[in-house]
Amino acid sequence: MGSHLCDRLLAAGHEVLCVDNYFTGTKRNVAHLIGNPYFELQRHDVTFPLYVEVDQIYNLACPASPVHYQHDPVQTTKTSVHGAINILGLAKRVRARVLQASTSEVYGDPEVHPQDEAYWGRVNPIGTRSCYDEGKRCAETLFFDYHRQHRVDIKVVRIFNTYGPRMHPDDGRVVSNFVVQAIRGSDITIYGDGAQTRSFCYVDDLIEAMLRMMSTDAGFQGPVNIGNPGEFTMLALAEMVIRLTGSRSKLVFQPLPSDDPRQRQPDISLARKRLDWEPRVGLEDGLKETIAYFRSILS
Ligand code: UDP
Ligand code: UDP
Repeated sequence: MGSHLCDRLLAAGHEVLCVDNYFTGTKRNVAHLIGNPYFELQRHDVTFPLYVEVDQIYNLACPASPVHYQHDPVQTTKTSVHGAINILGLAKRVRARVLQASTSEVYGDPEVHPQDEAYWGRVNPIGTRSCYDEGKRCAETLFFDYHRQHRVDIKVVRIFNTYGPRMHPDDGRVVSNFVVQAIRGSDITIYGDGAQTRSFCYVDDLIEAMLRMMSTDAGFQGPVNIGNPGEFTMLALAEMVIRLTGSRSKLVFQPLPSDDPRQRQPDISLARKRLDWEPRVGLEDGLKETIAYFRSILS
């Protein structure tokens, strides 16, 4: 998502400082920007202080795939919590507007469906997903407290499942897994019975919403859900990927990871109203772009 955001900001005439520790990102995704005089790339981990001069900050730091964030859970919580403190300290010092990429995971395994921003969530505080969920929840707390206590100009968006070109083939999330498996003709791994649902947003739609959120009035902080309300079971997703790739891959069923939410769908009424935004790219069209991308890097 960060590389797509850089592209859009540069196209809009901004200067961009891109900060990454490359834990899940790769330089290849911004290689086409190297040499652009308005683009700067800095290797840095947000758990350490960062002294730079900027007027807007998008904080997207944190691995978001369960496989990655559970690899070093202590570091995951530090990235969200220490990262938020450093980024907010920076925003406070230079009086920058700062947008936090929060997550639908703040809703946990939800009892209300679809999820709207007023719902407080049902999150296990001690499970294997907690490092991500509670880290992101604590980051939201920090954002709102820096806003109330230090008048930092904040924006919070809650991002639902997002996919598209430039995902890592070993990302571990469902869309990239299924597409890569289908292209390679290997088995498609359905966790559990595949009846659990997710709502998938194409990356271009998501970036558009983030940019719109950044330019809302100072009186509006969010949080705002951004995602595509089109809801699919993992079985339906697998069938669509097989059809669009023309693959002969077979479905195999594997154990469901712990605390895996059963269903997830954003209520985007607030984004419609405040950002005048809704997603334009349906799952089938977005998957075609994503499949073309993976074919190009896997061949
Ligand atoms: N910080 C940073 N960049 C800055 C300003 C602050 O990384 O430009 C870090 C700083 O290391 C501090 C944290 O942000 O630990 C929180 O800053 P704040 O001003 O809220 O706290 P304080 O410095 O008073 O502890
Ligand atoms: N999933 C799956 N097969 C995979 C990867 C994921 O069936 O190879 C399932 C996973 O159990 C979850 C859903 O797909 O129910 C979405 O998983 P993902 O890791 O993409 O994101 P999450 O929304 O769980 O954070």
